Amino acid sequence: MKSNQTAASSSAKLKRVGVVGGGQLASMMGDAASALGIELVVQTPNATDPAVSVAAGAVLAAIDDVNATAQLATGCDVITFENEFVDLDGLRSLEQQGVLFQPSLSSLSPLLDKYVQRCYLKGLGLPTPRFWTWDCGADLPIDFPFVVKVRRHGYDGQGTFIVKDRESFESISAKLKGQSLLVEEYVPFDRELAVIAARSPAGEIAIYPIVETQQQNQVCRVVIAPADISLDLKAEAGAIARTLLNSLEAVGVFGIELFLTADNKLLVNEIAPRTHNSGHFTIDACETSQFEQHLRAVCQLPLGNCDLKCAGAVMVNLLGYESAESDYVEKRKQLAQISGAFVHWYGKKLSRPGRKLGHVTVVLDAESVQNGETSASAIAQTVESIWYAA
Ligand code: ADP
Repeated sequence: MKSNQTAASSSAKLKRVGVVGGGQLASMMGDAASALGIELVVQTPNATDPAVSVAAGAVLAAIDDVNATAQLATGCDVITFENEFVDLDGLRSLEQQGVLFQPSLSSLSPLLDKYVQRCYLKGLGLPTPRFWTWDCGADLPIDFPFVVKVRRHGYDGQGTFIVKDRESFESISAKLKGQSLLVEEYVPFDRELAVIAARSPAGEIAIYPIVETQQQNQVCRVVIAPADISLDLKAEAGAIARTLLNSLEAVGVFGIELFLTADNKLLVNEIAPRTHNSGHFTIDACETSQFEQHLRAVCQLPLGNCDLKCAGAVMVNLLGYESAESDYVEKRKQLAQISGAFVHWYGKKLSRPGRKLGHVTVVLDAESVQNGETSASAIAQTVESIWYAA
């Protein structure tokens, strides 16, 4: 593992990386690429998507357009993903023709459908909420409250519905009619945690400090690093990540979302086969960012050091709260004045409610971390009161 070694000192053998997806995750990967001597080419629908301006090239096409991925692959040494909404069967023909996908398509395959993912976790003996596959109209396998999820293409809480009673059930099932769904028990969790972990092609694994994530209406608002949990729980979360990444023979960064129950049990909620929102704090707070780490793994470089370089950090998502065309310069200036703040703006042309427009990471000193949740919540509140002010 890299220790005190600068990014530029390791020279990549695979120098041109194709990324399926061109949103903020690919854009932040682009920022990390140049220090490693790597160029990114992205496949994304619009010329205005965040990663296009930082990439060396772009194939403008839908994420699941296999012909476009074939075109992307002609100029690249390896193809990776910032978005898992791909046409896996279509991509298999490219893999057979010799295109190198990292992570491989076989490690993506158990993860893209939420029901299949739950079955995979169960098969590994990892703890998950109880779950069933369900078609609207069929008898319900569980009493209220429960959670309904679309099996594919859900993100940021879109496609996840907490069903408290018959009335909300009727309106949700009308909306989801005809879709194949996952139903699972509602977990009255104490907290939500996430593990960001990377695995190299040689099987080396590097795990970032476990974080606490805070969601509102199923969308992540705040991430606190490190999570204020016992060493035993940290070890258990790390062990879950290791089991998963080894079993998937994963290559690259993966995000694993967990529920922590009131009786101190961990349940796996979801695995994302890519860099993850809960790992954005690593850019400003860790020796190696998750984006550099992902590139290191997929380009066969030694993995970097995951340690914090400060005592802790709070990351707050800047979510759209109106439909507008604005770059919110004044608000960004105010946010940048918060002590220890790093403001990241994704450069999206249009704002709409709930859209991730940027994030702020505030690095913490030892005293703030010792004050635990109080300091972190106060910082998150300061950021949100500036951002969401009328
Ligand atoms: P997405 O893929 O859209 O992010 P998730 O499955 O991660 O959807 O769910 C988003 C959020 O919804 C979770 O972070 C959590 O707050 C809530 N949630 C999801 N599943 C459950 C559950 N079984 N019990 C309670 N809350 C849940």
